[in-house]
Amino acid sequence: MLFRSSKTGSQTMNRTPIAVGIDLGTTYSVIARLDNLGRPVTLVNAEGDKITPSVVFFDGANIVVGKEAAKALATDAPAVADCAKRDMGQRFYHKLLGGRQFPPEAIQALILDKLRRDAARMVGSVDQVVVTVPAYFDEVRRKATQDAGFMAGLKVLDIINEPTAAAIAFGFQEGFFDPQGAGSAKRNVLVYDLGGGTFDVTVMQIEGTHFRALATDGDVRLGGQDWDQRLVDYVAEEFIRTIGIDPREDPNTDGRLRRECEDAKRTLSTRLKTTIVCDYKGQSVKLEITRQKFQEMTQDLLDRTAFTTRQTLQAAGLTWQDVDRVLLTGGSTRMPAVSEMLRELSGKPPDTSVSPDEAVSHGAALLAGMLLSKQGGKRPTFEIKNVNSHSLGLVGVDPKTDRRRNVVMIPRNTVLPAAHKKVFRTQKPKQSSILMQIVEGESMSPDDCSQIGKCTVYPLPKNLPARTPIDVTFRYEENGRLAVMVSVAGKSLKHELVRDNTLTQEQLDSWRTFITSRPDAP
Ligand code: AMP
Repeated sequence: MLFRSSKTGSQTMNRTPIAVGIDLGTTYSVIARLDNLGRPVTLVNAEGDKITPSVVFFDGANIVVGKEAAKALATDAPAVADCAKRDMGQRFYHKLLGGRQFPPEAIQALILDKLRRDAARMVGSVDQVVVTVPAYFDEVRRKATQDAGFMAGLKVLDIINEPTAAAIAFGFQEGFFDPQGAGSAKRNVLVYDLGGGTFDVTVMQIEGTHFRALATDGDVRLGGQDWDQRLVDYVAEEFIRTIGIDPREDPNTDGRLRRECEDAKRTLSTRLKTTIVCDYKGQSVKLEITRQKFQEMTQDLLDRTAFTTRQTLQAAGLTWQDVDRVLLTGGSTRMPAVSEMLRELSGKPPDTSVSPDEAVSHGAALLAGMLLSKQGGKRPTFEIKNVNSHSLGLVGVDPKTDRRRNVVMIPRNTVLPAAHKKVFRTQKPKQSSILMQIVEGESMSPDDCSQIGKCTVYPLPKNLPARTPIDVTFRYEENGRLAVMVSVAGKSLKHELVRDNTLTQEQLDSWRTFITSRPDAP
């Protein structure tokens, strides 16, 4: 549990639980707690910063996380892991680090571990948290995020969708939590969340302290990084054109150029032009770039977010007239083109009142606070209703075509928790097991869906006749995690859900020991 400790005269510790929320971002992460008055505040890290780069540097036997690791991208790029969040759900991070393969959740765990240790210096032991995930994360990625928390020595009270967390922080800031406040009117809020690596859009209905997602959509591979990449490629192509060599071929030059371009992008959010310098093999190219040019070269990326935004509004059954606020969150919404596009689409000025860097962690801290007080027997101070971002299905064989196909059981944007029961029948007498393949996605073809895993029901009761009905219930929990229940004639049966690309409990325990007891950790 997360405690603030204070010494009494008799040296006993009076430990008061503290609520902590973590925004585990693709490029930056933030940790926040509730203060004595129940207000969310961001905790600074050991370097004194509110945001921590989500970067890990494997410096020989030492592991460095955060700002120093981000600097190492320019000098030791092959030993640096960044954007591991984009690889969540894969078995391994996309490059070898120190000659070793790391699961992406272990890299995420190292980032969480740094946040945990730094926070502990300020507030005492930290071990119960709420961690945020993109609304568009599928089940496997959600599980991997919870596992990352475990490996970092944390107890993950819950995971929460980033746009929902931002909406909660917004509701708190607007005074909706205040019993005397003017928060009871129903408002439709569209949350547009463009971070470093992911894009999410969620339509929420807020009625006082009731937060209800109506529809959600997004892209787990679209964010500020893609805007940076356009600038990197633009400069590199200019370098090739004038000098004849590609500066991206050297990982450290590529890392340096990436940082230069990210800086230039930030400058272009406040100024109309800037310069980027690229040095490689004793040659140098200096390029002036205007905001207009930058916007032209990234227009298609912005258009993708506009398309998804329109679709989500439609899925929520609303028009722009029904939307009371367009809420911006995520660092990339500082690009003026984002506000301009949304103003044009919606006909209203976007709301930038919540801090794009902090809102998500603040919402998570508010949820953590609520969950801790609920554990203490208090009534919840607010309520969240989410929807699932991907349809849940089973792989079946179409009897007409004999082809494998995805049979959707819980369609996307269903209010959670949601359950669906399917009756399977044993095929032969004395059958001993049933095997089901579970997928998430909208396509009929299982290959275009993300494989969640396989559920085996084993052993079935002995001597069942052929065609015995077996009830299988798939339940999406409020946080988007899957639970499976199996029964025959009302009696529950043992089953095992084996997820693709997830670590075994033994591996998780071993990573947890490695990460939390590192001698090099600060
Ligand atoms: P987040 O994941 O919400 O922390 O967002 C991080 C992303 O926001 C990174 O891609 C940053 O480059 C981007 N970002 C932060 N500040 C600015 C800014 N002033 N202009 C443009 N992009 C920014």
